[in-house]
Amino acid sequence: MAKRDYYEVLGVDKGADQEAIKRAYRKLAVKYHPDRNPGDKEAEEKFREATEAYEVLSDDKKRPLYDQYGFAGVDGMDQGGGGAQYSHAFHDFSDLFGGAGGGFSDIFDSIFGGGFGGGARSAGGRSSGPAAGSSLRYDLRIQFKDAVYGTTADIHFKHNEACSACKGTGAAPGSSKKTCPTCNGIGQVRQGNGFFTIQQTCPKCGGKGLVVEKPCSSCRGTGLQEKPKSVSLKIPAGVDDGKRIVIRGQGDAGENGGPAGDLVVVLHVEPHQNFERDGNDLYCAVPISMAQAALGCEISIASLDGKRVTIKVPEGTANGKLLRIKGEGVPVANSSRKGDLYVKVMVQIPTRLSSKQKDLLKQYMDLENPPSDPQLMPLSKLGD
Ligand SMILES: [Zn+2]
Ligand SMILES: [Zn+2]
Repeated sequence: MAKRDYYEVLGVDKGADQEAIKRAYRKLAVKYHPDRNPGDKEAEEKFREATEAYEVLSDDKKRPLYDQYGFAGVDGMDQGGGGAQYSHAFHDFSDLFGGAGGGFSDIFDSIFGGGFGGGARSAGGRSSGPAAGSSLRYDLRIQFKDAVYGTTADIHFKHNEACSACKGTGAAPGSSKKTCPTCNGIGQVRQGNGFFTIQQTCPKCGGKGLVVEKPCSSCRGTGLQEKPKSVSLKIPAGVDDGKRIVIRGQGDAGENGGPAGDLVVVLHVEPHQNFERDGNDLYCAVPISMAQAALGCEISIASLDGKRVTIKVPEGTANGKLLRIKGEGVPVANSSRKGDLYVKVMVQIPTRLSSKQKDLLKQYMDLENPPSDPQLMPLSKLGD
């Protein structure tokens, strides 16, 4: 048998809000409920169909999947709730829905959070058990140099702390929490016992099992309060871009004695004007003259930390040659070792020569006696 579109089943349009969906389902459920239609197979099928449609369309996760992919999007998604169980034949609904008390309307009271009229989710639900607080992410920009040598950063952020007015309980001073009347503290509303089950988080207490009688006015019953916080963070030498530093317990406060979340600081290292970094090695370039490259020389450069470093350029140094200065790189974390500094030599060809320099170079060229028919070589050999 072909399945009918869930919206069609409930007789609502695609944009229907939760209230409209709930209302439509309630109407159908009341009409086709097996208690009212004993032995009527068609009513039974209509009830099953409506319940299935309601289960999907009332679910924030399933509804978008259904909208996008149709039945395929929600098939097999049910956890103990419906799905496979729908394929079983319905037997005796009076066993399921009859029993104690008013039966049917009681069930819907609990599904819809009290008052068969279909109230919205009630606010003010609070957890009965401890719940861990959320971890927070903080993105911190640091200077290139600070990442290499380490630094201390003061970071300012906001996180949730236990509300000072109610000490995190969420209950107004003098009032207390009571067992959720909708789910009797279980946190789930569930009907049936095997072949037909509707189970969902209790809408009254949000699955927490307890509700506050009178919510704290400062935190509106959440038990949490957003507060600014400052932390001085030590950034060790040698950290790299993307490094995470976890500050335990500085995320959002936990609930009911649950642990606080962490503050996760993600480092973003600013690029440096002159230096680049590859792991623990530093790279920079330095211009030298044609004569310096040919004759060799010593040059003094400012290293990353500002101190002067002398570099020996050997005689006959080619353009683009990398010179290594040991131990002038980035400190290796948790070690006394350091990476190296690589200086790339960029030989400058003079463009404005004095007449004396030209004379000297001409004399030099005569001595050099360059071949009039130079040997060609592949591009890859260039600069060797
Ligand atoms: Zn409070
Ligand atoms: Zn509840």
